[in-house]
Amino acid sequence: MRLAERLDHLGTETAFIVFSKALELERQGKDIVHLEIGEPDFDTPRNIIDSAIDALNNHWTHYCPSAGVYELREAVAEDFSKRRNVNVKPENVVIAPGGKPVIIFTLLALINPGEEVIYPNPGYPIYESVIDFIGAKAVPIKMREERDFRLDVDELKSLVTPKTKMIVINSPHNPTGSVLTEDDLKAIAEIAVENDLYVLSDEIYSRIIYNGEHTSITQFPGMLERTIVLDGFSKTYAMTGWRAGYGIMPEELTSHVSKLETNINSCTSTFTQVACIEAIKGDQSAVDMMVSQFKKRRDFFHEGLNDIKGFNCHKPHGAFYLFPNIREYGIKSSEMEDKLMHDGGIAALTGTSFGEYGEGYVRFSYATSLENIEKALSKLADFVKKF
Ligand code: PLP
Repeated sequence: MRLAERLDHLGTETAFIVFSKALELERQGKDIVHLEIGEPDFDTPRNIIDSAIDALNNHWTHYCPSAGVYELREAVAEDFSKRRNVNVKPENVVIAPGGKPVIIFTLLALINPGEEVIYPNPGYPIYESVIDFIGAKAVPIKMREERDFRLDVDELKSLVTPKTKMIVINSPHNPTGSVLTEDDLKAIAEIAVENDLYVLSDEIYSRIIYNGEHTSITQFPGMLERTIVLDGFSKTYAMTGWRAGYGIMPEELTSHVSKLETNINSCTSTFTQVACIEAIKGDQSAVDMMVSQFKKRRDFFHEGLNDIKGFNCHKPHGAFYLFPNIREYGIKSSEMEDKLMHDGGIAALTGTSFGEYGEGYVRFSYATSLENIEKALSKLADFVKKF
């Protein structure tokens, strides 16, 4: 086929490729522990499922405005305003089929070819992919292990040029579980204001945090009017397959992002949106339960991993990933990914799935049961003995 050249600039998320490889090995009879996919293993809470079923029985089976069902936009605005102590209106909210589309919609709406976007590296691979895809320049900022995998604010300053238009931040962070401190956020906010930059703040893990409360960059002076927040339902409410997320943005931008949605997906599934209202307004005990389980798993896995030779791991503060340094083995991370799968029976991701600065690391997801984690640790102990 004579494919369009723009596909040369499109990256991907390799978790899905590793997942397929692991399934193939399982079909051949191999025993694999899955630590590659980043999604909660819990079922979606019952009240949310029931609400979707009611919605289906009550005619929520048609199109809705591209920006979303107004009552959901209202619920998101109210919840966000209360949790972050800022003033956001339904008119600032656009509902999307997942948090992920907010990345491409925002960049399409704000970034011209040739302009520069600074993004975290290692980081969620879709940032770099989409920045490249739209013809902008992706400028990586290193998430530094010696800073607990946070960025260095002076380095950020040094990367800003007259062409820089946006900074992408992600806290809690995939793949390292780092959380930006208030001082970091304040300094990033100052850089954004001084240089008139937009910030895309990916807060998809904002509720999966183990010490204290999440702080959003929107809480700092001058930021609400230059920030697009990405958040959603996938991780907080174990709703990855429902495809529901949202962007919170300056009101002027919402009509443009909605127009992109009109062109691409018309709207987000309407009965899903009704269930999302229940997710926000209903009982939150399932969220608390999931977060406390993730915390137990983190503690157990982190401690066990650090007892294994050559898997040196800092303690993450949020999300559900461990990102051990494996440099002691002197092999490339991609080779370690292969060996873990074929010799160790563990599906994990090479750190380089998250960008060039992920070399020297692998990512394990602990969004899986304690039994699986125990099994993974025992497989890993056998694996290193034979290494
Ligand atoms: N942002 C980050 C940092 C993620 O890790 C993910 C999913 O893994 C997303 C966004 C996308 O989430 P959603 O499933 O809501 O599209």
